[in-house]
Amino acid sequence: MEKENNYICAYCQQPFPIWDMRPVNRSIEGKKFRICDSCADSARDQSKIVQCDACGEYFTSDVLHDEEICGHTFTACPNCGKDMVDCMTREEFEKEHQPRRYVVVVRNTDGSQRGYVVAMDNSAGVGDVVKKLAGKVNLSPAASITIAEILMDEDEF
Ligand SMILES: [Zn+2]
Ligand SMILES: [Zn+2]
Repeated sequence: MEKENNYICAYCQQPFPIWDMRPVNRSIEGKKFRICDSCADSARDQSKIVQCDACGEYFTSDVLHDEEICGHTFTACPNCGKDMVDCMTREEFEKEHQPRRYVVVVRNTDGSQRGYVVAMDNSAGVGDVVKKLAGKVNLSPAASITIAEILMDEDEF
């Protein structure tokens, strides 16, 4: 068993044993360094380093790149490639946050009807569909409005 303090912390410059070692930016050449357990905790509290919730690796914020996917921030882990907070792969993330699409059929008082496709943010409800549509087209001659969500890509032809 290793008893000596073989490592020097890049933050506090104190020697520490291997079991307290927390590698930072491990997979990034030229940017990687090692810090002790207690410095890792405080650096994480101050958001100087970010721990990936998916694989547990630590990275400094300068090596991380935020992307906007469907209006939500996706931060790919340099190690495992998943989002560092949501632990989702890019594909899962896109699926989770892709806008919902609704089919809206408006039947007018004169008997005519018209269909629309309305895309909504994931968190929006059905009531917001009418609000959004009313902001785009004149719904005052509408006698009835029917709304149905397009559940799957396979539902579109
Ligand atoms: Zn330290
Ligand atoms: Zn990761």
